[in-house]
Amino acid sequence: MSNSQSVLSELLRAFPQGRPQLYFKSSLTALSHAMEDQVLADSQNPLIIASFQRERFYRQEAHRYRRIADRSRQVYVLAAPETDFKNNSDRYETIAFDPQDALSQEWHLVVIGQQYASCLICRERPTSAGDVIDNNRRFEGIWTFERSMSQKAAEILLERILSYRPELGPKIRQARRRYLVSPTLTLPTSNQDFQSNPAPFVERLVTYLQAGQYKLIKANRSLSAKEQKERLLNSVTAAIRRSLDPEEILQIAVEKLGEGLGVCRCLIYRCQEEDLDATITHEFLNPGISSLKGRAWPLRENPLFQQVLELRDAVVLDNAPQDPRVLADAFLEKPGPPLGELVASCSILSWMLVPILYRDRLLGMMELHHCGPAPLTWNQDDVALVEAVNLQVGVALIQAEAYANLQDLNEQLEALDRTRSNLVAITGHELRTPLSTIQVCLESLATEPDMAPELRQVMLNTALADAERMRKLVQDFLTLSQLESGRVEWNAEPVSLAECIDLSISHMRAHNRHQTLPRILNQAPLDLPPVQADGEWLVELLAKLLDNAIKFTGAGGQITITAAPKGEGFLEITIADNGRGIEPNRLETVFDRFYQEEGALRRSAGGTGLGLAICRQIVTGWGGEIWAESAGKNLGSQFHFTLPVAPPGAERRESKPKPEPVSAPRFRRSSRRRRPGL
Ligand code: ADP
Repeated sequence: MSNSQSVLSELLRAFPQGRPQLYFKSSLTALSHAMEDQVLADSQNPLIIASFQRERFYRQEAHRYRRIADRSRQVYVLAAPETDFKNNSDRYETIAFDPQDALSQEWHLVVIGQQYASCLICRERPTSAGDVIDNNRRFEGIWTFERSMSQKAAEILLERILSYRPELGPKIRQARRRYLVSPTLTLPTSNQDFQSNPAPFVERLVTYLQAGQYKLIKANRSLSAKEQKERLLNSVTAAIRRSLDPEEILQIAVEKLGEGLGVCRCLIYRCQEEDLDATITHEFLNPGISSLKGRAWPLRENPLFQQVLELRDAVVLDNAPQDPRVLADAFLEKPGPPLGELVASCSILSWMLVPILYRDRLLGMMELHHCGPAPLTWNQDDVALVEAVNLQVGVALIQAEAYANLQDLNEQLEALDRTRSNLVAITGHELRTPLSTIQVCLESLATEPDMAPELRQVMLNTALADAERMRKLVQDFLTLSQLESGRVEWNAEPVSLAECIDLSISHMRAHNRHQTLPRILNQAPLDLPPVQADGEWLVELLAKLLDNAIKFTGAGGQITITAAPKGEGFLEITIADNGRGIEPNRLETVFDRFYQEEGALRRSAGGTGLGLAICRQIVTGWGGEIWAESAGKNLGSQFHFTLPVAPPGAERRESKPKPEPVSAPRFRRSSRRRRPGL
């Protein structure tokens, strides 16, 4: 059975003068094919013994052996079984040898005919561990037309066959008699046929050698293409890993991939599954190709995008204008132009769409457009490369997103910290200062009964004013926390903006009746439509903005209130002053809680630093926007906010609120809810 003896060694023992040579796998393939063809070319009924190392090598040649079996009844094929190769007597004998047998390391082919005999007896040489390329496999052994050597090789192999399949004894004996025994009696000792005309064999050999060479070149070409793609992927990966800026990452990816694959147009857009369309943000273009950057790209009505979503995989159109998906789209009832128009207007001939996914979440899409002159067929490797790049892009985008979130979080923490120190400073200043003043005034009043009445009055007024300052701070605290907690019940209804402006001006005048105010010009047109707002909060907002404008504008200055329609269904109200202005880099910060430009302890104008934070909460409560503008220090400021116009036909509430000279203005009070505390 299993034999650890090498057939080659056995043969060399019998023919010590034999010189083994080195053969590459491709040469052995060519030689074997040429020898087999020699059998197929004549009808001498030769003996053929072929031993394959593995069943899979035999499978590639099985069809040849079926044809060879038509020429001879003495054909033996040996192989180490892997699936269904087994001992069998059909058109030819198959012998399944033990995979541990030395045969599994060897490659043999013996052909013995009437006019010729040849054998190929080789043993595989172990290759180095890193050498995995099939064509680099090497063998050493004998290839000869020497009849006696071929007969010996056949003898050794028939012996092995017999050990695996003893039932073939009679057939093998017949073979021995016919081809091996007493060669001089029945057979010529030399290859007369071959020697008289070697050309057919040589020609076949050269053809097979060239075919092997061609295969090698092809394999090398695909290897170098693979290597080039791997290098491209590495360079894209390295470049995108260097950045945490998503825009930069996407630009690098389109440029490197577009250039590397030599496409006409490579583009990326970010999108989500439900998006109606996307804006193309990053693009690589070959010269002469029109740009699509900034263009709205259809998604929901685009059958290709929908197919990508469904498959979670790339979609490739080799010939887009003729593609059935593009042609069929023209007959669908849907909004927007058919896909064919897009294909034509963007000159897309071949089209590849590859999703950028991260854990099955769609982050965007990479598209490759080939614009001609002839359509292009992208192969699996090209698609795999784009997918590999997209995988990297997906990870990089998620990392960048996480980093941005972290930065946001950091900024929020910093803002919180600022708020905390401002809170400490302001409460320290705003509560302690008036409290000390009140304490001094009350102590003086208590300890000096003989104090002059005028001085007494001054003391009382000062204590009252400072108590009011403290009340305001506490009130602002409560208002802001109420707004921020979302506990405010908005009572939006159609109200007259003009009335609210009047109310807030009256309140300001009443509140500051002891000081000279800047000139207040109300230029809001009277014929504006009613706005949809909660009147009390609207007055509160206007009053706070006016209060600031008064505080930060000298008595000689001027405050102007204007209002005009803004966009669809909104009014924009502006309170502009020509006071001390705001630095451009502070225009957003002023809306932070406790922000005060001078710092709490050096403030001259009074206030809590909560006013604008409250204003922003009120405006966002009705879906509007608020922002500040200023040309800079001492160049005045403008505070703008937007208000929704009441829907047509909505009843404006008839109310004639009366300005209350001293206390807070009241637009309308609801007992159900907490009202803003003016
Ligand atoms: P404050 O109680 O300090 O007025 P706000 O939140 O209302 O608090 O305002 C925050 C800061 O914004 C003010 O301290 C001031 O520096 C700046 N500011 C607000 N309104 C104006 C304005 N009309 N002109 C210049 N600066 C302003």
